[in-house]
Parts: sequence; C-alpha cells; structure tokens
Amino acid sequence: MPSANPPLLDALRDLADLSRLDSELRALESEKMELPARLEVCSERRSSSEARLAASRERVTEVEQEQRRQEGLARDQEALLEKLEAQQHQIKNNKEYSALLHEMEGAREGISTAETRVLEAMEALESARRELADGERDVASLLEGISEEERGIEARSRLVEETIEKLLTRRGEVGKKVDSQILVRYEKLAARNSPAVVVVSGESCTGCRVGISPQSYIEILRGETLVSCGQCRRILIHSDHLEA
Ligand SMILES: [Zn+2]
Repeated sequence: MPSANPPLLDALRDLADLSRLDSELRALESEKMELPARLEVCSERRSSSEARLAASRERVTEVEQEQRRQEGLARDQEALLEKLEAQQHQIKNNKEYSALLHEMEGAREGISTAETRVLEAMEALESARRELADGERDVASLLEGISEEERGIEARSRLVEETIEKLLTRRGEVGKKVDSQILVRYEKLAARNSPAVVVVSGESCTGCRVGISPQSYIEILRGETLVSCGQCRRILIHSDHLEA
C-alpha cells in the first residue's frame, strides 16, 4: 500500500477543475440562449416606437386632408352663392325669388359650417404636429438607447462565444489528464448534479449541506480514494487538497 496517492489527488484537482469549468460553461450556455430573446425585445420596442410615430404622422396627414376638404367645400359654396346672386336679375316672380333666397341661405350656411370646420382642423393640426414633434424627439432618444443596448448585447454575445470556445479547449485539456474510468464516473454525475465536485466545509457537503461521516471525512483528508457524498453523490474534495 502506498502511503500517499498523489495521482488520485491530481485527479481530484483535475475533476474539481472540470467541475468549475462545467459550471462556467453551463452559466454561459444559458446566457447565450437568453441573448436572442433580449435582442427580440429590443426589436419589438423599436417597432412599437416606430408604429407610434407612424400613427402620429398619419394623424397629421388626416387632419391636413380634412382641412383641405373643408376649404374645398367652403370654396364650392362660395361659387354657388356667387352663381345664385347672379341669378337674382333673371327672377320672374316671388315664388322663384323666395326659392332662390332659400338656396342662397343654404349656401351661406354651408360656407359658415365649412369655415368653422377649417378652423377646427387648423387647431387639430397644430396639436397633431406638436404631438408628432414630441414623439419624434422621444422616439429618437428611445431608438438611440435601444441601439446602444443592442450593441451591448451583440458584444456580450461575441464575448460569450469566445469564452465558451476557450473553456471547451481548456476542458478538453483537463479531461485528457484524467483516468478514463474516473472521467466516466464524473461525466455521469455531472449530467445529474451540478457542480459534480464540491468542497467539504465544516465536515459537510457544500452541495447538499448534509454532514459527512467521520470515516468519510478521514478518507477525504487522506485523498487516497474518491469519496462521494452519501446524500447527493457529489465527489467531495477537501479545500486543503484544492489549494495544495
Ligand atoms: Zn452532498
């Protein structure tokens, strides 16, 4: 029996490395999965801001059209009134005259109504243009913020990819050093429990916080065999071995 088993201690440290790398990889992979959704949110916010602006522009156009329509109606009624006034000379009897007066009155009312509507449209136009100008200012600063956020997410995405590549390379290097049977045991455990290797602290497993038997604790301190937590099956390592 060898008094110490340095290869196993090395293996334990390598497993602890693997476990740490796997935890980092898992966190990065999950962040990577969330980044497209964050970009999607940015894109939706941009679309809704642009839609709001488009609605304001449409409102301005509608009110402009309404103003022109009412101006046109006023002009038509003015032309009609002029025509009716010219007919006054050709009137032959009272009945015709009274009908003509009635028509002229209708035209005057039409002019008055259209002019009122023109004024209303002008007021509405002023308010719609003010709203559009405010909206353009708000949306411009909002879009700027969204673009900045998108650039940040894209930069983060590149960094995450690069880091994942580096960690995978490192993981491959560490994995090669570990005995294949121990590696298989680790991989099986890592598939269920993350992290798969944990430090013993205060004679407890830091993975599940359950206490470790004195016998197991002694074995862990010796570092001659792989000791698993009786509760969660994680591989246990003493912090002294980790730092050594
Ligand atoms: Zn445990």
